[in-house]
Amino acid sequence: MLTAIVGINWGDEGKGRMVDLLSSKYDIVSRYQGGNNAGHTVVNEKGKFILNLLPSGMFREKTVNIMGNGMVIDIEHLTGEKKKLTDKGIKISPANLKISDKAIICMPYHKLLDCLEEDRLGDAKFGSTRRGIAPVYSDKYMKKGIRMGDLLNPDTLEKKVAAIVEWKNLTVDCGYKNHSITTESMMKWLHQYGDHLKPYIIDITPYLTKADKDGKNIMFEAQLGALRDIDFGIYPYTSSSSTIAAYAPIGAGIPGKQLNRVIGIMKAYSSCVGEGPFTCEMFGQEAKDMRDAGGEYGAATGRPRRVGSFDIVASKYGIMVQGATEIALTKLDVLSYLEEIPVCVAYDVDGKKVTEFPTGDALEKAKPIVEYRKGFHCDITKCRKLEDLPKEAMNYIKYIEAAVGCKIKYVSVGPARDEYITMY
Ligand code: GDP
Repeated sequence: MLTAIVGINWGDEGKGRMVDLLSSKYDIVSRYQGGNNAGHTVVNEKGKFILNLLPSGMFREKTVNIMGNGMVIDIEHLTGEKKKLTDKGIKISPANLKISDKAIICMPYHKLLDCLEEDRLGDAKFGSTRRGIAPVYSDKYMKKGIRMGDLLNPDTLEKKVAAIVEWKNLTVDCGYKNHSITTESMMKWLHQYGDHLKPYIIDITPYLTKADKDGKNIMFEAQLGALRDIDFGIYPYTSSSSTIAAYAPIGAGIPGKQLNRVIGIMKAYSSCVGEGPFTCEMFGQEAKDMRDAGGEYGAATGRPRRVGSFDIVASKYGIMVQGATEIALTKLDVLSYLEEIPVCVAYDVDGKKVTEFPTGDALEKAKPIVEYRKGFHCDITKCRKLEDLPKEAMNYIKYIEAAVGCKIKYVSVGPARDEYITMY
């Protein structure tokens, strides 16, 4: 069984929380794209954790976690993240964590270049998390990346690093007029943060192929959401990787296989970090109330997130490009402060009502058409069964389900592992 857990919206839908919950039935959890540019928050009996790089299956003792070839890995960040978990008693060893030899290392110069470029852009900045993600993915496709597997070959590693450093300084030093980088400092960094990771690095493809043949259940965990996908998202305000489910087997390391199940994580309202068109956006006090109710501050950066009403147009699109077979609707409890729940039902583009998600200029110009649903206006965090939900909450779920055209299988009513309802 191959299942992907993916974001339907702009990210921060609560994927980590759903992976943590559903991973009990899975033998393997694999991250397949992205780096430490976003955070998955997991709350369970062991505490509250923010994972940027490690898969959210780390808390299950029998689960094997994989960091796939589609990822870009800042080994300094990974070292810190690993320590935070082991300090809280989570066991991490090569038995429960495996890192692809083909994953690309996010180097200090990637972070540096990310910052130099955002600073150069000034007001026109992309809203990058400044964690080096766009520069490292660019290098991957330029074929100038250093792979995790290179750490296992110290002789060739230094030669590769020296050649890349020479090339990088053409940009860092000659272009941006920053002080140049040195091979010596890069090698020191690679040894300091890479040496202890060597036992974790393997060729994942034979491992996953065998696991699949042996009938193991494999879960692929996405970072960010459909609208941040490099191809299908709100380009150029996207991430630099493929966040969609179709890429999951490729980015994890089992490219010849197809998914059996795609669980789309969809939030009961909207949030968006950084720049870019966000049609359903709220402003002023309305936005502040929503942001505070939902705790919408970035897990990786602490930045306040832009917030908005549930967006039917964008969510329907997200479900389509993800090929979602079912939905987990998250953070429904957050809406309990509202007497009436705003929903963006369509867009107005140059006076025309639009219900298909537009691209390019049309998306930039789109204005929200908002309708209101009756709110449930009470605490639903203790609800564990369908019957426990107030009528208005049930109506809201059914309304959303019909509007987006995909079955809602789970409804999450709180961040803790047991705070959810199974719908069917
Ligand atoms: P991810 O990147 O998709 O995993 O999402 P984040 O971790 O960035 O954001 C989700 C946030 O919402 C985290 O702080 C979760 O603990 C929290 N959360 C997840 N599901 C629920 C829910 O149903 N209700 C509430 N109130 N919080 C939730």
